[in-house]
Amino acid sequence: MQRWLRGQLQRLAGPERVSEQRFRAQGYGEVLELVNFQVSIRPELPRRLLLCAHWDTRPRADRDPERPEDPIPGADDGASGVAVLLELLRLFREHPPPIGIDVVFFDGEDYGQEGDLERYFLGSRYWARNKPPEYLPRYGILLDMVGARGAIFYQERYSLEAAPELVDLIWNTAHELGYGSRFPRSPGAYISDDHLMLIQEARIAAINIIHHRPEPDPFPAYWHTHQDDLSVIDPLTLQVVGQVLLEVLYRRLPARL
Ligand SMILES: [Zn+2]
Repeated sequence: MQRWLRGQLQRLAGPERVSEQRFRAQGYGEVLELVNFQVSIRPELPRRLLLCAHWDTRPRADRDPERPEDPIPGADDGASGVAVLLELLRLFREHPPPIGIDVVFFDGEDYGQEGDLERYFLGSRYWARNKPPEYLPRYGILLDMVGARGAIFYQERYSLEAAPELVDLIWNTAHELGYGSRFPRSPGAYISDDHLMLIQEARIAAINIIHHRPEPDPFPAYWHTHQDDLSVIDPLTLQVVGQVLLEVLYRRLPARL
């Protein structure tokens, strides 16, 4: 997967735009060799936005009664966000965006055992702690679980606290494009995810677009099971998320950055 993703990024953005951040992290009885990928679009522009997703998938299916020790495919939990970002990169080359955009693919998001948040978000934590102090994108937008059939994106609560105006902008844009039923303008749950590292460790106003509902049961049944494979994915959902983002990036956000 690492080799494949590197090849895709170099093909879509040009090798000179792609950088890799290699690091080690302590796992459960193992030292992990991880890598974040970053692609910088229009690096000459000072006004910048960060887009991100995690490219790792969970190494165990701890919500699955069958084979809980085996890794999950992670078609939605991980890969869907990567898929949308790859298509955006392809479009950025055809139509250079009016703002600078950095697209980051984090490793090690989903490594931790449930409840052990110290061993989640390994890539975003490392990235946020080692980011150059002068690099301060105006906002960060994380995509996670953005591909499932019928996915509903409630307003994630850490996002509402970190950047309520950006949540408003994105959700209002979705309504204007006719996707209101997918983007209810009401709070969901507090979801710990890579955007928390951006907020807490790097002081970036970051939000998370993630398929979930309010408590008590935020995630769909396939989450962290072997059922998270291509059968849950609907290209229409990927398209809805991508189109909302394109409208925001090219038309709505530039005046506000
Ligand atoms: Zn996960």
